[in-house]
Amino acid sequence: MAQIKPYWQNYIDGVWVDGGAGRIDVTDPATGEKLAEHALADAADVDRAVQAARRVHMSGVLTDMRPIERGRMVQAMGRYLLEHKDEIAETLTREQGKPLWEAHIEVAGAALYFEYYGNQASTVEGRSIPLGKGYFDFTENAPFGVSAQIIPWNYPIEMSARSLSAGLTTGNACVIKSPEMTPLTNAYLAKAAEAAGFPAGAVNILCGLGHDAGATLAGHADVNQIVFTGSVPTGIAIAKAAAGNVVPCVLELGGKSAAIVHDDADLDAFERDIRWGIYFNAGQVCSAMSRVIVHESRHDELVERAVGIAKSLSVGPGIERDTTGANMGAMVSDGQRDRAVGIIENAQREGAMIATGGRKLNRPGAFLEPTVMTDVTPDMDIASNEIFGPVLSVLKFRDEAEAIGIANGTPYGLVGGVFTRDLDRATRSARQIRAGQVFVNEWFAGGVETPFGGFGKSGYGREKGREALWNYVQTKNIAIRLS
Ligand code: NAD
Repeated sequence: MAQIKPYWQNYIDGVWVDGGAGRIDVTDPATGEKLAEHALADAADVDRAVQAARRVHMSGVLTDMRPIERGRMVQAMGRYLLEHKDEIAETLTREQGKPLWEAHIEVAGAALYFEYYGNQASTVEGRSIPLGKGYFDFTENAPFGVSAQIIPWNYPIEMSARSLSAGLTTGNACVIKSPEMTPLTNAYLAKAAEAAGFPAGAVNILCGLGHDAGATLAGHADVNQIVFTGSVPTGIAIAKAAAGNVVPCVLELGGKSAAIVHDDADLDAFERDIRWGIYFNAGQVCSAMSRVIVHESRHDELVERAVGIAKSLSVGPGIERDTTGANMGAMVSDGQRDRAVGIIENAQREGAMIATGGRKLNRPGAFLEPTVMTDVTPDMDIASNEIFGPVLSVLKFRDEAEAIGIANGTPYGLVGGVFTRDLDRATRSARQIRAGQVFVNEWFAGGVETPFGGFGKSGYGREKGREALWNYVQTKNIAIRLS
């Protein structure tokens, strides 16, 4: 195992710097031990990063470039990540807790965003609008300028890559506020930008506390657009800050997403969906399959299979879990794990039953047993509160309308799923589920190419897919009077 550097700095205006707010400890959640220290930005650091980005934007260096050249640089960033994949994945596992093979998937996923968006730089085209003989009129898609991107801890490098790749592709200069619990791997994005030839100030990455550096960045008067991925309460604070400066924001928030499993569903195949849907990244996935709403005729069989999957997972330090398979790592912190246990215990008091799991592991580290909860009813807290852990809640339904009602019965609307062999029923349900993305017969079907984002309290705006690019540009119309 490679040695992790003991101290990591912020990257502002092309220079690695200490933080005005001192340092923060980064903990390995698999051991509870200190892994490294990271510089902590204060308001002055945020201001320097924003001013550097603004200078780059105003200079025109990114916007004057032929887009295909900018796209090549964005793609080069992805290649840099792949060239350093082993090192990044190991650091990611040590700071976040996920199994090493999952960390490899995350780094590859981050690289894919740079490949996908870099490849589209020259396709962000405007249009020409006919106004008759006397005019030539056309639109352009202009970058906003300074894009501020605030990142959560669950997929730190992939979430940053998702916003940064689209931001740079469209010609914005970017300031990333990395998550305070998992800031280390974001440093590789700065190195990638340097290696790809981006000028100093085009990419700035700093770690800071949410209520300090995060709030300063969101409310900074020279930020022109904000992309936030995180929880609903913080999303609301970001939207208020954005409104104060009249700048747009994209909010990618939480979810309590449900799979509706009909009586004709292929449960052999569905076992795989349970494994990935709720135990991938120990359930710390915004689009996790945290609820299964199953037809009463298949309930017992489904629970038996879910329990089988949960019990088959070997849980322990991610760094020892380097091959794809039946295993799960630590959650990100003791605090997140204890919060999940609290929700489980409360559900028991409300009448839900633990079919398997539900307890901390008897060892150091933020481990929680893969859990399946039954006898969950829609009125219980566990049925609508996002746990963000490896906890599956199983609910029952009798008819299709009831299933849709339960699925749509939370304030969220990130994703949903329908499992049936009946295409008419699948299509009907998919249209009725109130969510930004619906999976039919495979949870997580889709990829960087497919638009992703929420209905309701899961947020607004879209990341991924071509749709995301339009959040990073503003339409400009140019009308020319011809003589
Ligand atoms: P969080 O809202 O606590 O923090 C997210 C980021 O916001 C962190 O970088 C934090 O420092 C910063 N922040 C906190 N307070 C702030 C403030 N007042 N002003 C500005 N920034 C502030 O969320 P989290 O606990 O890190 O992440 C978990 C949440 O993120 C879950 O709800 C999950 O569903 C959601 N999430 C959503 C997506 C998505 O794409 N929809 C992806 C991953 C995670």
